[in-house]
Amino acid sequence: MLREFGVEAAEHIEVEAMAARAGAVIVTSPADPIDSATARLVRVGDRATIRVTERLRHPGARRFSIAHELGHLVLGHEEPLRRLCEGGTAESRLARESAHQLETEANAFAAELLMPEALVRRRCEVSPVSLEPSRAIAHDFRVSLLAAARRFVELTSERCALVFVTRGTVRWVARSTTFRPCIEPGRRVERDSVAWDIERGAVHDEAQEVPASAWLEISDDGGAEIVEHAVPVTEMGAVASLLWIREKHAASLRCYD
Ligand SMILES: [Zn+2]
Repeated sequence: MLREFGVEAAEHIEVEAMAARAGAVIVTSPADPIDSATARLVRVGDRATIRVTERLRHPGARRFSIAHELGHLVLGHEEPLRRLCEGGTAESRLARESAHQLETEANAFAAELLMPEALVRRRCEVSPVSLEPSRAIAHDFRVSLLAAARRFVELTSERCALVFVTRGTVRWVARSTTFRPCIEPGRRVERDSVAWDIERGAVHDEAQEVPASAWLEISDDGGAEIVEHAVPVTEMGAVASLLWIREKHAASLRCYD
């Protein structure tokens, strides 16, 4: 699709035009109260409709949702549609895993469509690391900071992880391939992390050093530090922390997985 649309720069990525070319009509509708999904692909015969809730106020979130549904369409995902894009708590384990696999594929499609590796990778090769490159990507590619930061850790060769926190608990972690330590979902956020302060309303909008033990399960960090840049994700009641291990600490902070 990127080739077909001659995408050579961020401003060429017009996701709604791409969806139209793929045969999908986009409909913005009021949120359905029994449905927590923000977007939905509906196919009838060879007609496809992408329904997007008007709750998605942030244009970046809307673009990502449309790109995700377009992914289901273009990748030919044939799961029963109701099961896509929702938790599926009553489904069998196998069905859940299959749905999860399709969600992962649709998210990967959306990330590459909206932030193509060929255009974004060089912006991710920076040192020192902070959220600033992700902010620039979010601005130029019209996506949310969270989506841009995930893409950043996916593509950078620096030792980075993006940690998503709500109510004092790690919910998910995205790591670069060079980030070796493990941070498990469910981990409680420590007092000496920046995320702890941000959850309590502090404002530190810059990367700063914290003890490695603030994030990593290590008995003796030998004084090693980790760089953390944390920001509130207000619309989700969450905090996102970008962690970075400097070269000089890489040897002492490799683990175990
Ligand atoms: Zn989906």
